[in-house]
Amino acid sequence: MYDAATQFIHAGRTPDQFGGLVNTPIFRGSTILATSFDSWEASKVNGNPYSNYGRFGTPTTRSFEDAIAELEGGHGCCVFPSGLSACVHSLLAFVSTGDHVLMTDNIYGPTRTFATNVLNRMGVEVEFFAPAMGSKIAELMRPNTRVVFTESPGSLTFEVADLPALCEAAHSVGAFVLLDNTWASPLYFKPFEHGVDVSIQAATKYIVGHSDALLGTATANERAWELLKAGAHDFGQIASPDDLFLALRGLRTMPVRLQRHWTNGVALATSLSEHPAVSEVMHPALPNTPGHDLWKRDFLGASGLFGIRLKSSDSDVLRRLFDHLKLFGIGLSWGGFESLVVPVGTPVRTCVKSPAQGYVIRVHAGLEHVDDLIADFTQALDIAIRSPQIAVA
Ligand SMILES: *Cc1c(COP(=O)(O)O)cnc(C)c1O
Repeated sequence: MYDAATQFIHAGRTPDQFGGLVNTPIFRGSTILATSFDSWEASKVNGNPYSNYGRFGTPTTRSFEDAIAELEGGHGCCVFPSGLSACVHSLLAFVSTGDHVLMTDNIYGPTRTFATNVLNRMGVEVEFFAPAMGSKIAELMRPNTRVVFTESPGSLTFEVADLPALCEAAHSVGAFVLLDNTWASPLYFKPFEHGVDVSIQAATKYIVGHSDALLGTATANERAWELLKAGAHDFGQIASPDDLFLALRGLRTMPVRLQRHWTNGVALATSLSEHPAVSEVMHPALPNTPGHDLWKRDFLGASGLFGIRLKSSDSDVLRRLFDHLKLFGIGLSWGGFESLVVPVGTPVRTCVKSPAQGYVIRVHAGLEHVDDLIADFTQALDIAIRSPQIAVA
């Protein structure tokens, strides 16, 4: 087995099949012609007469799916048109009316919205659990618990979960464990080695890596693969070959980019934790973040995304901060080459409400020089907490 950095360069590439081209080309197509009746009959997969069709993928799709399955360490991978689509269709592939789903309380917001709106309407009961529960989650398991959906570190507050403990409890009642693995990427957390059944990536983030396409993946172990694949196909989920090409291109430089996001993120987070305007920094690699020991035990690195909590929630302070940042864009998504901030406020929680007051901001450390990032954030925070009278005087 090669090192991950080597795998990222070679996974899913077969130049001999494409005239020697280094990259798998963009194959656009819907109709795929058969050369005879017998070849049409032979193209049926699992008895499906429509399997030889663009909706089931082209060589561009397969290059990308093979690469992700190998890099995550799973059995098979399905692509989706967005990360959210990968999350919701993975859920739909496993649940039926009357089932019970356990979902971590620090789940990505739109996945929570889908669960509370759509799953509940379908008669699937969704119960949220505290990210720090560990093996205590066994007490929440029921005979009809079908899925444990988790994300580690979780969105916006970045607590790390004890995934082997969650998986053991889930498997004891026959449930599947679905993990949103976007933060760590396939580089820094190996889901299947820790018992996960389906690993989801918002490929929009680090895999595409340049803020120019939306894409999702779900990768399954052997146990979950047939259900996941049927679920994706039954709902007609597919991704554009142009976006898949961009994702394949992004993949090749991921180990180099992520190394820089990691070191920039840790240095920026550490510096911000010392600023008088900041009450808390939420970053799995910093010792005071819940689950830091689990991060050290189970993860191979850190990405560039973390949270900070300001001491103040005063809108004048927030306005001065955001309007004086020069290198950090204000916007959604993350994982591109550029630095970003997004105003969060108070993250939605139903089972563990943080006693901490103060406004939460999500920060993405991009690939700029870290001294410039620290200097820019520090000057904006300095201005933010300077009282207006002093600023005028
Ligand atoms: C962004 C994100 C998603 C959704 O990805 P999109 O491509 O924007 O739909 C899902 N999970 C996490 C953790 C994310 O950060």
